[in-house]
Amino acid sequence: MKLTELFQQERLSLSFEVFPPKTEGNFESVRHATEEIAKLRPAFMSVTYGAGGGTSRYTLEIAKNIKERYGVPSLAHLTCVSSTRQTVHQRICDIREAGIQNVMALRGDIPAELADSDRSRWDYRHAIELVRELRAADPTLCIGGACYPEIHPESTNQREDIRYLKEKVDAGCSFLTTQMFFDNNLLYNFLYKIREAGITVPIIPGVMPITNGNQVERAIKLSGSFMPQRFKALVDKFGTTPAAMKQAGIAYATDQIIDLYANGITNVHVYSMNKPDVAAAIQQNLSAILGMDV
Ligand code: FAD
Repeated sequence: MKLTELFQQERLSLSFEVFPPKTEGNFESVRHATEEIAKLRPAFMSVTYGAGGGTSRYTLEIAKNIKERYGVPSLAHLTCVSSTRQTVHQRICDIREAGIQNVMALRGDIPAELADSDRSRWDYRHAIELVRELRAADPTLCIGGACYPEIHPESTNQREDIRYLKEKVDAGCSFLTTQMFFDNNLLYNFLYKIREAGITVPIIPGVMPITNGNQVERAIKLSGSFMPQRFKALVDKFGTTPAAMKQAGIAYATDQIIDLYANGITNVHVYSMNKPDVAAAIQQNLSAILGMDV
């Protein structure tokens, strides 16, 4: 099923993100976690892609398993920046052979060892190049792109970031998923600006439940997200008490989702990070709103 069909509904739906194993050795535990999340029957599940890593082939395997075994639509991520054209073309063939209809086209973070190299020699510099190739390979593919309510860390200003985003969408994105954010007002402001810039595809906000104190620093560093005072107070109070932090983080994410839905957003993507218990707790908190039998 193409995700764009899901995005037309009026009721709240949740999707969950999982990531493939970082080493061969923990494939089974990751598969188990992804299957537990699939049993929650989310609207869809996305499977991230470890740029250049030896386990990147598992992205497709997990996406296929979720779709075929559990009937949950899957979204396979693909990055391009540290790959050759030949590798990317092979991945595109694999995606088509696996019958995957939804692909998240990403640039990927620039590896430290490439940071100072001559970019004119790279096969790919931006996600738009991958979007174009995917669109040319299959005009019917449902292609997602990433967007940044608080601007991408490499962008000098939001106007420029949105201009490149519009070009990426025009190249063939069917929808966009946002980077995590902890203040919904930043998302509402971003939506206003991108609609004004003529971007009309569905925007799926990404919400990250922060469930342990150590995760905070890493998440903020990666995303550059602003931490509202209310969120900081919560981390200060519960950050060193794992069970309490987990409960508070789930409550905060739940509250964000309720506010998004109350403001007209019907699809929310949860960065559930291979944690079935966290995905289940958020779903349970929202069961009546989601219209689930409880
Ligand atoms: P781009 O769209 O190429 O944008 C990157 C920067 O380049 C921005 O500053 C943009 O303004 C600028 N830019 C874009 N086009 C041009 C142009 N033509 N000329 C000049 N500048 C331009 N990473 C992974 O490794 N694996 C994953 O599975 C993964 N999943 C993600 C999912 C989501 C929803 C998000 C938000 C991020 C994800 N990432 C993932 C991280 C992502 O790869 C990084 O944020 C990366 O730095 C940028 O990727 P992009 O696709 O947004 O790049």
